[in-house]
Amino acid sequence: MFVSDFDIRISNLLTSVIEIQSPEYRISANMIGTLDPKIPHGPLDEKWRSHRDHSRLVSPNNRRKFEIIVVGSGLAGGSAAATLGELGYRVKCFCFQDSPRRAHSIAAQGGINAAKNYQNDGDSVYRLFHDTIKGGDFRSREANVYRLAEVSNQIIDQCVEQGVPFAREYGGLLANRSFGGAQVSRTFYARGQTGQQLLLGCYQALCRQIAAGTVQMFPYTEMLDLVIVDGHSKGIITRSLRSGTTHAAAMSQPLIALTKGARSSRIPPSRRFIRRAFLSAANINRS
Ligand SMILES: Cc1cc2nc3c(=O)[nH]c(=O)nc-3n(C[C@H](O)[C@H](O)[C@H](O)COP(=O)(O)OP(=O)(O)OC[C@H]3O[C@@H](n4cnc5c(N)ncnc54)[C@H](O)[C@@H]3O)c2cc1C
Repeated sequence: MFVSDFDIRISNLLTSVIEIQSPEYRISANMIGTLDPKIPHGPLDEKWRSHRDHSRLVSPNNRRKFEIIVVGSGLAGGSAAATLGELGYRVKCFCFQDSPRRAHSIAAQGGINAAKNYQNDGDSVYRLFHDTIKGGDFRSREANVYRLAEVSNQIIDQCVEQGVPFAREYGGLLANRSFGGAQVSRTFYARGQTGQQLLLGCYQALCRQIAAGTVQMFPYTEMLDLVIVDGHSKGIITRSLRSGTTHAAAMSQPLIALTKGARSSRIPPSRRFIRRAFLSAANINRS
């Protein structure tokens, strides 16, 4: 059956009920929460920068009081967990593989784009933003893509500091190439294994934090559901893929779920069970 055979409707964004109808079957599913990306206000190129500049800071001494859950340990989740751990937060990081090194990020081959303009061929943050929006068939969130283009140069610098062996010119400077139809050379690469090398760099940083005790790693653990209390995410329900046992993990800060393909199980426990399990695990007394 072709996709065009489906009639996919988001019938009500507020309750986020998605109905998929086809000649053969009909699916109706409740999604978690609403589809609200919470993009800050303001001009496109200032939205996230100004949000960062005006967010309240947490003092270094207070950071250890916060417990943060990160679901996923690929390039996104692994680097977030390592960075938050380095900042002093207490982080719990979950993945269903046996090791963060097996995340699908390992498959990325081509390279990573940054508007460094080393070749002086007219590259800029705006051009990288424009090409990325175009490459995403104009369906990506513009403010988020702009931020990605804006910090692209720092990402390369951070990866180099973490020891990622990017290809270099004979003189020792970082090499880059024109890739994916771009008219400028902006792709930084490590042979055909960029994702694997990036993941190794990320994994090293994560291991350092695990050894330092700021990050607790939970491999073989699958997130089943998100726990929402009074409209705020307060924890997750997980299942051990070794023993099959279900647990509730609580946190003091909003959940950071960073996975490309995060999926919750098709056999979720009942809401009542989730709430009870979570409240007891979190030791929250809610009569
Ligand atoms: C073949 C290929 C080539 C690519 N080439 C490039 C390229 O050249 N350049 C580029 O920029 N991008 C490339 N990409 C895209 C890039 O690899 C991905 O966008 C990126 O790696 C996604 O990283 P991630 O951390 O979000 O997800 P992943 O690396 O997939 O990590 C997902 C994590 O979430 C965890 N997880 C998922 N569901 C659950 C759950 N229910 N409970 C607990 N944990 C869960 C997994 O265990 C895993 O740790 C390529 C992708 C592929 C497949």
